[in-house]
Amino acid sequence: MGALENTLRYFRTASEVMDLGDRIERFLTTPRREVSVQIPVEMDDGRLETFVGFRVQHNNARGPMKGGLRYHHEVDLDEVRSLASLMTWKTAVVDIPFGGGKGGINCRADLLSEREQERITRRFVDGIHDVIGPHKDVPAPDMGTGPQTMAWVMDQYSKYHGFSPAVVTGKPVDLHGSLGRDAATGRGVMYATEEVLKAYGKGKGIADSTFAIQGFGNVGSWAARLLHEKGGTVVALTDVKGGIRNAKGLDVTDVMAWLRRTGSVAGYPEAEPCTNEELLSSKCDVLVPAALSDVITKENAKDIRAKFIVEGANGPTSWEADEILHRKGVVVVPDIYANAGGVTVSYFEWVQNLQVDTWPEEVVNTRLHGKMVQSFGKIRSIAESRKVPLRTAAFVLAIGRVASAASKLGVS
Ligand code: NAD
Repeated sequence: MGALENTLRYFRTASEVMDLGDRIERFLTTPRREVSVQIPVEMDDGRLETFVGFRVQHNNARGPMKGGLRYHHEVDLDEVRSLASLMTWKTAVVDIPFGGGKGGINCRADLLSEREQERITRRFVDGIHDVIGPHKDVPAPDMGTGPQTMAWVMDQYSKYHGFSPAVVTGKPVDLHGSLGRDAATGRGVMYATEEVLKAYGKGKGIADSTFAIQGFGNVGSWAARLLHEKGGTVVALTDVKGGIRNAKGLDVTDVMAWLRRTGSVAGYPEAEPCTNEELLSSKCDVLVPAALSDVITKENAKDIRAKFIVEGANGPTSWEADEILHRKGVVVVPDIYANAGGVTVSYFEWVQNLQVDTWPEEVVNTRLHGKMVQSFGKIRSIAESRKVPLRTAAFVLAIGRVASAASKLGVS
């Protein structure tokens, strides 16, 4: 099953609970615009290569569309459509005034030089600059992209439209980025973990819990560092090149230093090697998938031993796996809430850019904390009153907000 079909399954489970009706359901599952551009680029060795880039704008009933830009060799229209719709639900769950969009370029970001990445990014912006903008659609980082990519997007867009820092978020801090944005998604994962443990951890908090984390990039490494800082024991970590585990706990700061030296967590001396499958079935309290989508499947869900899954990645759990986990009593904190810290601080960055202001990092983190606590309270209350899992509850909350805005605007 493709990524989009998976997201639609989750949507439909919630829309049935809400008795949404066909008309509004069809409206909310139809993207407003899908753009596909060919990006011919001269490579460092003089060859001309053509990349394909996408931007899908799913819904703008609650505000300008918002969503990341992914550089990965599995990017295709189906995946970008799915991620764009997840952004609509995510911005609604945390109640920030944005809709949902997503973009991506099919490429091997890890094999491209920085100059090649810059040329690809600038040519991509040439192809989409007229459909994005501070009040239309605001990209941000995702897998394979980061603050430097966002700086190029801002600069290239500004060549067409004049100085426009608010066209993109996740920029470098010294180039109109927000303090706290780099850590925001991982920090949100940590706050989400704190909330779910408070609610269902039977007295166990982060400091009494063990964690296995898949992916050690922006989201996974910040989540690991912040959970470790709160006293949590990280027992397993993987990245694209391999993984490590140590039942007594990994020193995350030291693993970060190892990663900086070697380019991977693999080979870290104070641990044993660990595959992705071993990580997913690790003995731990909380599993944090923070890399790819569709990694928890109907084949491996039965092997999961964690009591909680906090979805740092987008779409890591297939709907069949989700049902198996629910039957097993595993509490899944869904992506549209768990990793919403990034888009929340992106919203704060957008506000600062529009107001030509800079907030101190404590203000950013305190406001993020407020959003994560408040949203969890609402999701939990829907889950308990309607007797549904947290994912369905989060979709009910989000769909309710988007449907209400759309029907007040008039859907036709
Ligand atoms: P990133 O590119 O910074 O890091 C990705 C990490 O995943 C790297 O450590 C990489 O080595 C690892 N990885 C890649 N393939 C793997 C594999 N086969 N097995 C194990 N590890 C693998 O990306 P990121 O920004 O951290 O994004 C990770 C996930 O979080 C994505 O699903 C993304 O959509 C989601 N997300 C990111 C943000 C954000 O602000 N960056 C916000 C919300 C959600």
